[in-house]
Formats: sequence, structure tokens, C-alpha cells
Amino acid sequence: MTSAGPLGELALARGTVDRVTTRRMDKDWTDAAWKDPRSRLLVVDEGHAMVREDGAEVELILVSPEEAPPGTRFLLGQDADGVVYFGASGLLPGALDDAQTKYDRHAKQGIRKASLREVGALLPDRDAGLLTHAVALANWHDRHTHCPVCGSATVPDPGGHSTRCPVDGSEHFPRTDPAVIMLVTDPEDRCLLARNAAWPGRRVSILAGFVDPGESAEQAVIREVAEETGITVTNVRYLASQPWPMPQSLMLGFRADAPAGQDISVDHEELAEAHWYSREGLLASVEAREIVLPPPVSIARRIIEAWYGGPLPSVR
Ligand SMILES: [Zn+2]
Repeated sequence: MTSAGPLGELALARGTVDRVTTRRMDKDWTDAAWKDPRSRLLVVDEGHAMVREDGAEVELILVSPEEAPPGTRFLLGQDADGVVYFGASGLLPGALDDAQTKYDRHAKQGIRKASLREVGALLPDRDAGLLTHAVALANWHDRHTHCPVCGSATVPDPGGHSTRCPVDGSEHFPRTDPAVIMLVTDPEDRCLLARNAAWPGRRVSILAGFVDPGESAEQAVIREVAEETGITVTNVRYLASQPWPMPQSLMLGFRADAPAGQDISVDHEELAEAHWYSREGLLASVEAREIVLPPPVSIARRIIEAWYGGPLPSVR
């Protein structure tokens, strides 16, 4: 269930648990699994889950379905040993208790609340897959509680992967927004990195943007690069994708070529600045702390490193 493309294994595109999609509408099966003491529940609260950190090791804290907060449950899947995993959106069990003593004990045990962005690259395959899936579904349930046709409150199916309107019978499925992210190179094989006006400090990245309705991903690459930097690109080619459920994106990674003789013209709405970097220039800028690259959990980092030809240092 982990597929390594030209970018290798991406942090949030991992997983070992079978999604058992055929069980999602099976109420008897999901009810029985929910009551099974072997079943495990991952609670997500505003994009955060409880993790246990022991040195470099980080793992999710999974609890019994009995400890579920009120709200929608959703089926994440079943592993090779037959263990069924559920997710739920709500307050974290035992998290940050009012009792300070319990909180102190948690802190000593390395137990804390963490976001997918923080721990997505540190978790083992099973946990990275479970958390990415659970955060995506929790975000959808939290933001899509009513029928978009008539406004009535919707009812989730047994597996929590769709909802139905009790008034007009319409069915609704989780939403994912496609976004393109692309590394553009010039004829000297220098890459284009930009600083978004909304980003703090010296953070730079490759260009990105959402696919417009009625637009292909390749068209979006060409349009976004032109809008943000005034550069016309050709030879748009797909690399790999990674879910980015913050709140509901799927990042589609591309490369594109910028023919010679073009000047960068930054739009100053979205971007503050954009520059061409040679490999030596990029390394020097990172080491001199003039720029900060995206974190290892992002597909942006992996696309930059694939062009560079190896890992780049993470300098804070
Ligand atoms: Zn309706």
C-alpha cells in the first residue's frame, strides 16, 4: 500500500492498513468491530492526535472504541492480523487533563498532542497512514455537517465514509481539493524558488496553487507559474502525489521547463520574491541561513531534493 515513485517514499503516502472499502456500508460488521475489544480507535481533535515520543521513536496512542468521544466514528481499515481501526473526531481521551498531576505524568512519559505536519515524517508506516486518513475524514465531517442541496443535517453511513440527507435522499462523499506543486528549471538547470508573502521569515519553496474548476492539472501548472512569476513554462511532466489534508488537499507534484530569455515578474499579491538557484547557490544559501526550505513531511522538500540530487541540510 506504499508506492514509491520517482520521489521515493513520501511521508504522508504510506500505510499498512487495508481500507476494507467493501465493509463501509456493512452496519452489522462495523457494529461488531466497534464492540470488539481488539479494535483500536484514533481520536483526532482539530488535526491533532496523541503521540508517545521515546527518543527518536514516535508512535500514535490508540485507545479502545469504548473511550470514543461523542460524534461521528469512521472506519479506517483492518490490518493483516485482523485488527480493525476506527477514527473519531472530538476531544482527545485523557489529553491535557484538568488534573495537573496527570498532565505532568503524561509529559514524563513523553505523551503529547501533535499535528500531522509535526509528526507525519516521524511516524512508522502504519501510523502515518492511519493519521493521514483520520485527519482527512475528521476535517470533512467537521466541515460538512449539512446537506449542500437543502441544508438539512446529514446522517453518516455505518463506516463514516459518506453521508445521506434524510429529506431529499442525496448522498455526499468526502471532498479532496487537487493542488499542483511544481519545480521549474531554466536552461542552465537552475530551479525557481519563491517566498510567499504570508510565510514567516526566510521560508522559500517551489510554486503551488489549486486546480481551477474545469481545468487540467497541467493547465493549472502553466497558469499558476505565469500568474505568480510571469514565466511561461513548457514540457510539464507529472512526478508523484501526496495527500495534504490541511484541510483537504491532494498535492500533485510536477516538473516544468522555462525556456531562455524570460524575466521573473513577481505578482506581489501572493509572492514576495522569487529567484533562480543553482545547486551550489541553493546549498550555500541554506547553510548561510539566508533561506529555509520546506519541512521533510512536504512533497515540496522531496521535489527540491530530487532535483538537487540528494538530501539537503535542515538548518533552522
Ligand atoms: Zn438535503
